[in-house]
Amino acid sequence: MVYSYTQIAHYLRCPRSYRYRYLDGWREKEARAGLLFGRCFEKALEAYFHGEDCAAALHQEWGAFRYASLDFKQGKTWDRMLHQGVHLLEKFARDNRVEIAKPRQNLQIKLTRELPNGNEFISFIDAIGRLDGIHCVIDWKTTCSRYPDEPEGLLALDPQLICYSWMTGMAEVALVVFVQKHQPEIQYLRTSISAEQRAEFDRVVGTTIAQIEAAQFSAHSGIRFPQNGCVSCPHLGLCLGDRKLIEANQIRSAGGNDLAWLDELVD
Ligand code: SF4
Repeated sequence: MVYSYTQIAHYLRCPRSYRYRYLDGWREKEARAGLLFGRCFEKALEAYFHGEDCAAALHQEWGAFRYASLDFKQGKTWDRMLHQGVHLLEKFARDNRVEIAKPRQNLQIKLTRELPNGNEFISFIDAIGRLDGIHCVIDWKTTCSRYPDEPEGLLALDPQLICYSWMTGMAEVALVVFVQKHQPEIQYLRTSISAEQRAEFDRVVGTTIAQIEAAQFSAHSGIRFPQNGCVSCPHLGLCLGDRKLIEANQIRSAGGNDLAWLDELVD
């Protein structure tokens, strides 16, 4: 079996939801404008580091969704997202805080790691480069609201960054967050992951895979007023047996796990 951060995180969030997605093959229909825009924006960033016209690349990539029926959040529109994206690219170039040497090798890096029992773990890392001169693993994020950066040290608890540190063996990690709001903003957040955290993540991966292999898929919604994880869960329709909700949000593909590692490219 091939595992990824997305799969482990999905299981830890709710084992039942993991079963729906990775064993039964239920996937969310991809109509979220923010998610699709994020992928287009990453292509534009690649163009930037290859010395190409990144605004033109964003136009071209996002142009493919010009007339698609998408879910826009917080009053966003196709045009507004494009303009904010171009502003963010211009600001990123002006800031000039990130360097990627040899972009063909150091962008969208595929890493694999052997696990016990013939399993494998796969990660796609956005970039390895320098942020303010510090050599680190870099993850791009596009979002509508700022990432919380307080209290100090919060970022070192980010499980995805811990996973990337575990995969690369590199302690220094960073998030570059492109915030699409009225006044576009870029957060450059850097932290260090300790050897102890990497060892702990190794144990979490091991115990999670053991539970998956033992077919432990109990519902674990984590409902706690006022937060209800089920409300934002794409599999809510399946748990409620609500056909309308299923048809609105889900498609089913055969062999749920065969290409599951591709999710890693989406996150
Ligand atoms: S609706 Fe709730 S219990 Fe059902 S899969 Fe989603 S998070 Fe789990």
